[in-house]
Amino acid sequence: MAAFQDKSVLVLGGSRGIGAAIVRRFAAEGAKVTFTYSGSRGAAEELARETGTAAVATDSADRDAVIATVRGSGPLDILVVNAGIAVFGDALDQDPDAIDRLFRINIHAPYHAAVEAARQMPEGGRIIVIGSVNGDRMPIPGMASYALSKSALQGLARGLARDFGPRGITINVVQPGPVDTDANPADGPMRDLMHSFMAIKRHGRPEEVAGMVAWLAGPEAGFVTGAMHTIDGAFGA
Ligand code: NDP
Repeated sequence: MAAFQDKSVLVLGGSRGIGAAIVRRFAAEGAKVTFTYSGSRGAAEELARETGTAAVATDSADRDAVIATVRGSGPLDILVVNAGIAVFGDALDQDPDAIDRLFRINIHAPYHAAVEAARQMPEGGRIIVIGSVNGDRMPIPGMASYALSKSALQGLARGLARDFGPRGITINVVQPGPVDTDANPADGPMRDLMHSFMAIKRHGRPEEVAGMVAWLAGPEAGFVTGAMHTIDGAFGA
């Protein structure tokens, strides 16, 4: 039997990259999957058609929209918060509005989505947030806001694990290193610098991250909560 047969899954930010791999993985294993998108309507509609999932337009920068989508999709067995952005460049030159938008997408949305999901989530529910190894290690300049946002998810998971644990609901952070997506292509200009930090000198594949997410969402991971799970070729080691 498929591992997630008829489980209700919501993936925030599922139209491309790691999120799309997560959508495919849960759909292939029998789950009823809804995912959100913001800018990539065409890719979202194609993925939904191909996988038999549902795509919903929801901007993760809009707190009330995120809460409404989570509420409207419930009760959820599994919530995955994947949507995230980076803003690169000298901190002294950054537009503060762009930085605040990053915080809304990368920090505020995961918090409010997790809390809203937990209201209706049954015993044994699972919440998984996609952080980054940059929450632990930030070896290059120009990405402080991104690193800050991914470190914040560690406190989110540690704290909400205490709130939701009595109901058997787990919350965990998956922390990828470089993964081959539009945001960080394996043939991009940062490739050699990133690989120089790693023991396994290649980009990860979105499917590898989806595999870790699936394990955390499955029955073997019921005792795993409030924890960070790094999948990074030893970028952070
Ligand atoms: P991509 O840029 O390739 O894809 C991002 C996904 O998030 C898209 O589906 C996009 O949807 C969605 N998204 C972005 N902003 C919003 C928004 N405002 N509202 C709704 N959805 C949104 O990124 P990756 O797949 O590379 O990254 C996914 C996650 O993994 C992020 O949290 C990222 O920080 C993290 N990560 C990635 C790493 C990498 O090397 N690739 C390394 C470590 C962590 P749409 O296009 O429809 O807006």
